[in-house]
Amino acid sequence: MTGSLVIVGTGPGKPELMTPATRAALAQATDLVGYGLYLDRVIPMRDGQCRHASDNRVELERARQALTLAAEGRTVAVVSGGDPGVFAMAAAVFEALESGDPAWRMLDIRVEPGVTAMLAAAAEVGAPLGGDFCAISLSDNLKSWATIERRLKAAAEADFVIALYNPASKARPHQLGDAFALLRTVKEAETLVLLVRAAGTSEAQVIATTLAEADATQADMRTLVIVGASTTRRVGRWIYTPRGARP
Ligand code: SAH
Repeated sequence: MTGSLVIVGTGPGKPELMTPATRAALAQATDLVGYGLYLDRVIPMRDGQCRHASDNRVELERARQALTLAAEGRTVAVVSGGDPGVFAMAAAVFEALESGDPAWRMLDIRVEPGVTAMLAAAAEVGAPLGGDFCAISLSDNLKSWATIERRLKAAAEADFVIALYNPASKARPHQLGDAFALLRTVKEAETLVLLVRAAGTSEAQVIATTLAEADATQADMRTLVIVGASTTRRVGRWIYTPRGARP
């Protein structure tokens, strides 16, 4: 098999936050596969580059299409937002590889890291991820809400800083409110909560509030929510979590 497949992430939005390695991989590709909105972030890098844009929800199908193109000898780049391995296409490609044509395993497949939303969001306010943290997607497209609740509760009890991806969408308007209600049963009312919209872009907006006052309707699908640990605090106009368990 002579084709290859690279899975890349565009970063949070600002062109400067796309890595040079990702840019180089995109420049080499004969075919770009991805969600239309992410492909739009990628300026055509060479003549005759084919774009295969698809809807956001058909990830496995898109992954199979990318593997098929690579098996035909094309140089394929699969494009995600942020980092391709964080709630994104890299895992979808490996799922497709696991259930697909065994010959696909001989392909040259690699992943380029990117700047994921929680890093861009944290940088907007200071260093809220400075201590131990975890990331949970609130989307129940691929897992049950009961699983999400179990993980939220465990993360809250262990006093992790919690980064919440996919906090809301039109199809799932209640989930962030339900998540806040659950976290309030474990964490202090004064726990800092950040809602960072369009992090790492020129339109970035930050709402810094407390768990008691956090308003789930202020988040949309371009928002990353960070729920602080007990040690997460303000200093001047910044917010950070100390590296140790300083009281
Ligand atoms: N692979 C992506 C995440 C895909 S899940 C990454 O690494 O960033 C999609 C979710 O990511 C969104 O619902 C939102 O919660 C978050 N997100 C993506 N880009 C964002 C941005 N610029 N600002 C804030 N949140 C963002």
